[in-house]
Amino acid sequence: MKIRLDKYLADMGLGTRSEVKKEIRNGRVSLNGTAVYRPEIKIDTDQDKITFQGEPVIYEKYEYYMLNKPAGVVSATEDRNETTVIDLIKDRKRDDLFPVGRLDKDTEGLLIITNDGDLAHRLLSPKKHVDKVYFARVKGLVTEEDIQSFTQGLDIGDEKPTLPAELVICSPGGISEICLTIREGRFHQVKRMFQAVGKEVIYLKRLRMGCITLDEALKPGEYRRLTEEEVKRLC
Ligand code: URA
Repeated sequence: MKIRLDKYLADMGLGTRSEVKKEIRNGRVSLNGTAVYRPEIKIDTDQDKITFQGEPVIYEKYEYYMLNKPAGVVSATEDRNETTVIDLIKDRKRDDLFPVGRLDKDTEGLLIITNDGDLAHRLLSPKKHVDKVYFARVKGLVTEEDIQSFTQGLDIGDEKPTLPAELVICSPGGISEICLTIREGRFHQVKRMFQAVGKEVIYLKRLRMGCITLDEALKPGEYRRLTEEEVKRLC
C-alpha cells in the first residue's frame, strides 16, 4: 500500500499531520537511509524503511483491541459530554479507531475496538448471525417457560420476532442470573427480550462475540491488544 509520508507518520501516532510535517522539513525523517524533506512523498508501507527522530517506525495498517467496557461510558468515537470507549484506549496510535457495534451506556464487557472496517462488517452483518453471549442479572424468577419463549423467538415490537436464542439459568431467584446467546444485534435487544416476558435486566455484561471471549483478567475499563492468534481467528 502506498501512502503519503506525513499520513504514515501521523497514523503511527507520532504527532499530528502538521507536527510530523515540521519534523520532515527539519530533516528528522529518513527513507531507506536518506533524509527526506517532502511530506507528500509516497511511501510503500510494505517495503520502505522509515526512521523518525532516529528511531525505526513499524507501520501497522490495523490495530485491534479488546476492551472490558465499564458502565458509564458510551460506545461512540466522539462525544462532547461523555467519555467514549475510544477515550479509554490510551496508547492507541491511530485516530481512526471505532467500536465494533455498540453496548448500552450501562452495559459492561467485551467490545472490540479497531480501524478494520471489513472485520467490523463481517462481525456485524445481520446475514452472518455471529453469536453474542451475555451474562445478566434479571429482576424476578426466570423460568423454564422463559427458556421456551426465548428458543421460539419473541415479539419485541419489531417487524420480525427475534431469532431463536439460548437462555441458560445460572442461578434462579428473586434476582436471577442468566447467560443468553443471541445471533442478532438489535437495539437494546437483551433488555427488550426480557421486557417481553415481563422482566427487567438490572445488570448486563457481554462475555463473547463470535470466537473472541472477554479476557477475565481485564477489569472494567481495562483493555489489551488482541493477540495475533485472536486476529487470525477473526479474519
Ligand atoms: N442488549 C442490550 O439490551 N443492551 C446491550 O448493551 C447489548 C445487548
